Amino acid sequence: MIMMAEFYDVIVIGGGVAGVKAATVIRELNKQVRIGVITKEPFIYTKMGLNYIIKSGSSIDLFKLMIDANRIGIDVLVNSVVTRIDFEKKTLKVKQNGTFRIYAFDKLILATGGKPVIPDIEGVGKIGVLTFNDYDNAMNIKNYIRSGMNIYIIGAGLVGLLLAEALKSNGLKVTLVDALPGIGLTIVEEEISKYLVDKLVSRGIRILTSAEIEKILGDRKIKKKVRKVIINGDKYEADLIVFTIGITPNIDLIRRSVIELGVKNAIRTNAKMETNVDNVYAIGDCATSIDYFTKKETYRPLGILAVSMAEIVGRNVAGNDTSYEGFIPMQYFEVFNNSIIKIGLNIKEARELGLNAAKKLIRYKVPGIRVHPISLLIHLKNRREELIGWQVISPWMASYKSAIFINAIRERIGLNEFLDLEKNMEVVDVIS
Ligand SMILES: Cc1cc2nc3c(=O)[nH]c(=O)nc-3n(C[C@H](O)[C@H](O)[C@H](O)COP(=O)(O)OP(=O)(O)OC[C@H]3O[C@@H](n4cnc5c(N)ncnc54)[C@H](O)[C@@H]3O)c2cc1C
Repeated sequence: MIMMAEFYDVIVIGGGVAGVKAATVIRELNKQVRIGVITKEPFIYTKMGLNYIIKSGSSIDLFKLMIDANRIGIDVLVNSVVTRIDFEKKTLKVKQNGTFRIYAFDKLILATGGKPVIPDIEGVGKIGVLTFNDYDNAMNIKNYIRSGMNIYIIGAGLVGLLLAEALKSNGLKVTLVDALPGIGLTIVEEEISKYLVDKLVSRGIRILTSAEIEKILGDRKIKKKVRKVIINGDKYEADLIVFTIGITPNIDLIRRSVIELGVKNAIRTNAKMETNVDNVYAIGDCATSIDYFTKKETYRPLGILAVSMAEIVGRNVAGNDTSYEGFIPMQYFEVFNNSIIKIGLNIKEARELGLNAAKKLIRYKVPGIRVHPISLLIHLKNRREELIGWQVISPWMASYKSAIFINAIRERIGLNEFLDLEKNMEVVDVIS
């Protein structure tokens, strides 16, 4: 049975960090507008921190990850799955507790996030093969693990690293597997990756790099349950396999619609976060964004960028004409008591954008504490050697001086000029 349409001035599809932040910004700027946030999940929350649900002894309150809807002053429709968008009639069909309802909107914000990538190999449908991208995934992993289990995490990027630490804290046997020749290489350079490998190995994590997973085999008695995994031709005993090899934009709702797609099949947006359809916007892990350095379209599924996109869309939807010139990617996370910061581009990202980049290892003194083990500056191979990136790994105050690095990168200051200004920094090594 379909009921009469309920109207909102603004509807946001997605109760993740992007959707909720956008709704908050609109509410702050406009107290009158009717805003509805629709999510298929039982609550709205941010995914950053889901690893603490699994981490043993973590004092984080699960409900801290969940955002207080009342505080936001908007209608949050939980357990509500949008099944269809009619862009002409400006309506949505939404399934709620087995009943379909129609919602009408004036402006629509798509913030549907990303979906975890699962490779097309034999055995991926078996019990004990999981992903780690949302609250349900985190609870599934937490409920599945038992003492003595052998766990394989496939994909050693940010999410895989955080999961490895969380599972190890439960005393489990953890193997991190990556197709690249190191870990964390989608984020940082090999110098930091090597340092990270040493830290993880010393904490008892087994690491397999340049390693391709080929097949997942079942249990002799319960064939549907994971028992072994074949990697680079070798067979390993496994009780649980978790894929963390990245995410792809969730465009289920707009496939074969009028909405235009851009790089990596993400929803194409302009400098105001508008799509090609009037009054329809897209933000967060489902959308493209503009690179700060080249002004090219990119796909960067990062929480920090999702928040920046939400701020732009929030202002535009609330009536304050706002555009941006491009986002500088940033990542900050902690694993095994080491913090990693990456601001701007790494060499691979720069080259993919058509920039000719190189790196310099630097050392800088921090009053009262020892020197950071590894800090790299990424710069263009031009006359001024303009700065386009900075990476550091450190057990001590990695964020020290981060504002200076961010500003230098934003201004694309020349390397020599930067070192002249920052007398306590010196180039230790030049790596091209
Ligand atoms: C464990 C973990 C740690 C992370 N740590 C970091 C970090 O340190 N730094 C960083 O920058 N990034 C981090 N990320 C990535 C970051 O969490 C994401 O970039 C961010 O969550 C994207 O936000 P989003 O709102 O675009 O999408 P999501 O958070 O994925 O939200 C999408 C929302 O859309 C809803 N939805 C989708 N389809 C429908 C539908 N048809 N009907 C109704 N609702 C729908 C979903 O239910 C969900 O509420 C981490 C990710 C994970 C998993």
